[in-house]
Amino acid sequence: MVLTYSEPNRTQPLAAKCSVFFLYLFSNAKLARLVIKQRPAEDEFPDLTEHCNHMAKVLTLDMYKRLRQHCTPNGFTIDNVIQTGVDNPGHPFIMTVGCVAGDEETYEVFKDLLDPIIQDRHGGYKPTDKHKTDLNPSNLKGGDDLDSNYVLSSRVRTGRSIRGFCLPPHCSRGERRAVEKLSVEALGILSGDLKGKYYALKNMTDAEQQQLIDDHFLFDKPVSPLLLASGMARDWPDARGIWHNDTKTFLVWVNEEDHLRVISMQKGGNMKEVFTRFCTGLTKIEDLFKNKGHSFMWNEHLGYVLTCPSNLGTGLRAGVHVKLPNLSKYRQFEEILKRLRLQKRGTGGVDTAAVGGTFDISNADRLGFSEVELVQMVVDGVKLMIEMEKRLEKGQSIDDLMPAQK
Ligand code: ADP
Ligand code: MG
Repeated sequence: MVLTYSEPNRTQPLAAKCSVFFLYLFSNAKLARLVIKQRPAEDEFPDLTEHCNHMAKVLTLDMYKRLRQHCTPNGFTIDNVIQTGVDNPGHPFIMTVGCVAGDEETYEVFKDLLDPIIQDRHGGYKPTDKHKTDLNPSNLKGGDDLDSNYVLSSRVRTGRSIRGFCLPPHCSRGERRAVEKLSVEALGILSGDLKGKYYALKNMTDAEQQQLIDDHFLFDKPVSPLLLASGMARDWPDARGIWHNDTKTFLVWVNEEDHLRVISMQKGGNMKEVFTRFCTGLTKIEDLFKNKGHSFMWNEHLGYVLTCPSNLGTGLRAGVHVKLPNLSKYRQFEEILKRLRLQKRGTGGVDTAAVGGTFDISNADRLGFSEVELVQMVVDGVKLMIEMEKRLEKGQSIDDLMPAQK
């Protein structure tokens, strides 16, 4: 079967890209590899009968038949999109997305599959909806006084993708190295409180790397099956690293799940300060890349385009490590989180369980709300949860504090 590049409904830059692609296609015999020997769709369709992820809910044989006729200009296919979801069936209680993007065009070329997944995952966000951005920290109400007897640390992160490069599931070694080089050059210009240094993974000892992971500054080693099956861990640790300022309050991960993960964090409960630094630093970084002729992947509908469809929009996760030993045992703990539009994780990261009643509590949404709105939900929700925790410590009822569904 020969895959045809299906042209997204976009304007100039992409059109220009397409013609370059076709020129390349016809001038380079090696690309004959794009002729993939595949059996009929029925023979190739994955067995999804036991699967619980969003991809498996949406993908039908008919859709698969249609979509396998297409690929993005960089050669990303429907099988590439869904592989992580095929290999990781998921669980009814932990609905993973089950697919990834290999480049900016993935979301357009495979929209038949991705639009319903995005709608399902992001609370009914429709293909016609427009995303809103608000990176003005003065619009955040309060947030500088989360009780530090309960809140151990506060953090805000997002991802950014650099237009023109394939995303981590599909980039080549050379592309990945180019992203690293560009990032190190751009970040090197930051000054004042944000001035920092880049530490490439391959120049770190195992002990140094583990210390940064244990201190919650660095991404984990690529052990997660989701990361491995998506292709994001290829060539590890080549061109991966962490850039941070001297005080480790502003950090950028390079080439993990996204080209860039931008993080602001500090000990204690001053989320306002953390968010302010996040907005300032992020805006500066965007300008630095622009000055070098590189913009971030963004469009009106999806907001910031990232590798995992669950991170589209703001890509923002604002969270605290907070002690909730009593509330977390309360029968309606899950319901409270749901109503406040918050999610819980263990303090060691996404795949870890909470230890001793301390949780990572963060916003559940990424798309359909602005950055300020999401941080506001965390600030207000965590305040309420701490109030509940204090009541439960004294053996008092929290019935009157139960929130309405946000
Ligand atoms: P992300 O959404 O950034 O990928 P993960 O759950 O994978 O988050 O965690 C990445 C790292 O960030 C882990 O080491 C985790 O402990 C750390 N981390 C997340 N939130 C906080 C927080 N509020 N305070 C301190 N460290 C945090
Ligand atoms: Mg992570």
